[in-house]
Amino acid sequence: MSSSATAGARSYQNFVNGKWQGAISGKTFPVYDPSTEEIIAQVAAADGADVDRAVQAARAAFDSGPWPLATAQDRGRVLFKLAEKIRQNSAALAELECRNTGKPIVEAEYDIADVATCFEYYGGLATKVTGHVNPVPANALSFTLREPVGVAGQIIPWNYPLLMAAWKLAPAIAAGCTCVLKPAEQTPLTALECANYFEEAGLPPGVINIVNGFGETAGSALVAHPGVDKIAFTGSAAVGKIIVKSAADTLKRVTLELGGKSPNVFFADADWEAAVDGALFGVFINQGEVCSAGSRILVEKKIYSKFVEAMTEKAKRIKLGPPLERETKMGPLVSKEQYDRVSSYLEIGKKEAKTAIGGGRPKQIGKGYYLEPTIFYDVDNNARISREEIFGPVASVIPFEGEPDAIRIANDTPYGLAGAVWTRDIYKAFRVVKSLRAGIIWVNHMQPTYVEAPWGGYKQSGFGRELGPWGLEEYLETKQVFVNLDETPIGWY
Ligand code: NAP
Ligand code: MG
Repeated sequence: MSSSATAGARSYQNFVNGKWQGAISGKTFPVYDPSTEEIIAQVAAADGADVDRAVQAARAAFDSGPWPLATAQDRGRVLFKLAEKIRQNSAALAELECRNTGKPIVEAEYDIADVATCFEYYGGLATKVTGHVNPVPANALSFTLREPVGVAGQIIPWNYPLLMAAWKLAPAIAAGCTCVLKPAEQTPLTALECANYFEEAGLPPGVINIVNGFGETAGSALVAHPGVDKIAFTGSAAVGKIIVKSAADTLKRVTLELGGKSPNVFFADADWEAAVDGALFGVFINQGEVCSAGSRILVEKKIYSKFVEAMTEKAKRIKLGPPLERETKMGPLVSKEQYDRVSSYLEIGKKEAKTAIGGGRPKQIGKGYYLEPTIFYDVDNNARISREEIFGPVASVIPFEGEPDAIRIANDTPYGLAGAVWTRDIYKAFRVVKSLRAGIIWVNHMQPTYVEAPWGGYKQSGFGRELGPWGLEEYLETKQVFVNLDETPIGWY
């Protein structure tokens, strides 16, 4: 058994070929609760040899045995059953996610519900994958078959651990792929718990394998492995670039969901209360550890001073505290490393701009990687805090003068994941929607995400799309079949 949920720290192994297995090297690594800084689990540390074993299991399960014979209905039922198991265990999973990431319990509960919905969505979609008949001349028949891409290597970050796993596993299973998932080293626990449901859900051994470990060892081995057909990666742009280069050696299919520095644009005619709320929600939800965080808050000069004041007043009321308390609106950052990284940006920000609120560690808090929600204003769009993804509760407020100026500043970034625009003017709203170079645009909101709608970035925020039918497409190949209906010889020679 993987997980001994005894008092104190749990221990987990890798899940390979339907069995829990220790790392071949015997090594383990600790997993922490960032609100107490205590170790909550020890996890087997996979390296190249363990990854090879997992890829071989996934390869074998893809090439022979029951999985290639599973019908679309069978695969759909597996996904429905996984969703059911997740809903049955949602309280325990939410608590574990909350303890491992530091995110507020209420947010963790939403995440786990979204995980189940994602499995249900792709369970339904599994039976809707169809080919196409192509309009070739009358003496032939041409059609396309949609086939699974093969073994998928899936590498995910720590901010929405089980949800990011679901976004990758669910469409892969719907398509008929097999998977080797590598969770982030900081947050592998909920995905590992779900491995306990695989057999009951009807997944044959080797169809989903989970290897724990570090990016530099386990992750890079997965990307380089010739037995892997596709890499689906969510994480930083810096690691995304390394992955594309390494995957080139075996010409793997690659999809990348990377970071952002997304603009949240407020015009003077926006609904005031909703706008102030939306500015804070856009950047401080999940401690700001959100790829689509509205971390550049662009405000029209006519309302700029009042808006910064109103945001600051409201931000004072954001309740920091233990993630398991239901009133908590902001927990600690995920790790010491992330706390140090964001802290260093707070120092940079204090030099580059003015501080409206925050800027350091909250005074009343003892242990845990907590940082205050921080609002910098009068920020230049060329400042480092405007250009670089901080991935923490840090907002850069930037003034603009009129619509063309807003669009110019919003697009002046190497990233293109998301953006939002707030106005009551429908003409202006849609002009801005069409002008922003990003994969997701919200109007008079920021952050709602639905499994039915596509997710992914322009520019250096990556390529490929997750969710909806787009997410399934990325796990499918297209085979063209030509049938000659003309019985006369070709007559060429
Ligand atoms: P990260 O450092 O890029 O790591 C992401 C994953 O890649 C982790 O599993 C990591 O392993 C692994 N990894 C690291 N180096 C690797 C290598 N050389 N080869 C293969 N894998 C490697 O990102 P993070 O700090 O976990 O997450 C934050 C980033 O994710 C932010 O940039 C954020 O914007 C992005 N993100 C994007 C989306 C989206 O949908 N666009 C969603 C969420 C997050 P270890 O952690 O074990 O080292
Ligand atoms: Mg790492």
